[in-house]
Amino acid sequence: LFDLSGRVALVTGGARGIGAAYVRALHDAGARVVVADLLEDEGSALAADLGDRVRFARLDVTDEDGWAAVVADVVAGWGGLDVLVNNAGIANAGPIEHYPRAKWDAVIAVNLTGVYLGCRAVVAALRARGGGSIVNISSVEGMRGSTHLHGYVASKFGVRGLTKSLAVELGADGIRVNSVHPGFVETDMTARIDPSGLPIPLRRGGRPDDLTGTLLYLASDASAYVTGAELVVDGGMIN
Ligand code: NAD
Repeated sequence: LFDLSGRVALVTGGARGIGAAYVRALHDAGARVVVADLLEDEGSALAADLGDRVRFARLDVTDEDGWAAVVADVVAGWGGLDVLVNNAGIANAGPIEHYPRAKWDAVIAVNLTGVYLGCRAVVAALRARGGGSIVNISSVEGMRGSTHLHGYVASKFGVRGLTKSLAVELGADGIRVNSVHPGFVETDMTARIDPSGLPIPLRRGGRPDDLTGTLLYLASDASAYVTGAELVVDGGMIN
């Protein structure tokens, strides 16, 4: 049910953190995986570690031409694409009166426009395979307000809405589109936050590996009748 042998996946922001855990999990489930990221050293090292079913591609998710090139390359090299994981993201924060336009533009560009560009870039390739799965990484911050995080929150609510719209639009093509909403996960993004003060019923911060079961479920035939869903993986934090 969860076997991904013969499938081809692309993970943005796959060089480190949650994305790298996704790459390892997809690889271990049998898929061939493209690690698409800005971080060449980390991405190349991960690909080298996992072997010839994983390759690195340098991609800035805000670059439309970059998306076209990476998708064309994977289709030419591996014959098609079945799974897209839009995971790349950045976070910034600040009180609204001291939150410059540049910060807003940056977080919307990567976290929301990047997801739109990715979905748009892969539709033809997924359709050519008779369908596929798009997994968009939002956040619990895409489900509630959070002080000083307005740009990030807006971007993650946007990902949630985009996911639902595409689930409706692409269902007839057999393309499923779902969102994942992690809570606190220990990565470089959250390195300065101490989870011990957070109201987490499971009493610990999440680790990247805590997210991989949800991803394998959404990427595989185990979720064949699931689209437009939003899966919260947060230790019960926003319960
Ligand atoms: P991270 O900072 O460790 O990794 C993010 C990755 O995205 C990096 O490899 C980075 O190089 C890449 N990236 C950033 N901008 C890019 C761009 N323009 N083009 C291509 N790649 C780019 O962060 P993480 O914690 O692993 O976060 C992964 C995703 O999970 C993000 O979308 C984040 O918003 C989301 N998320 C994280 C948490 C958490 O607590 N860590 C919680 C909820 C949601």
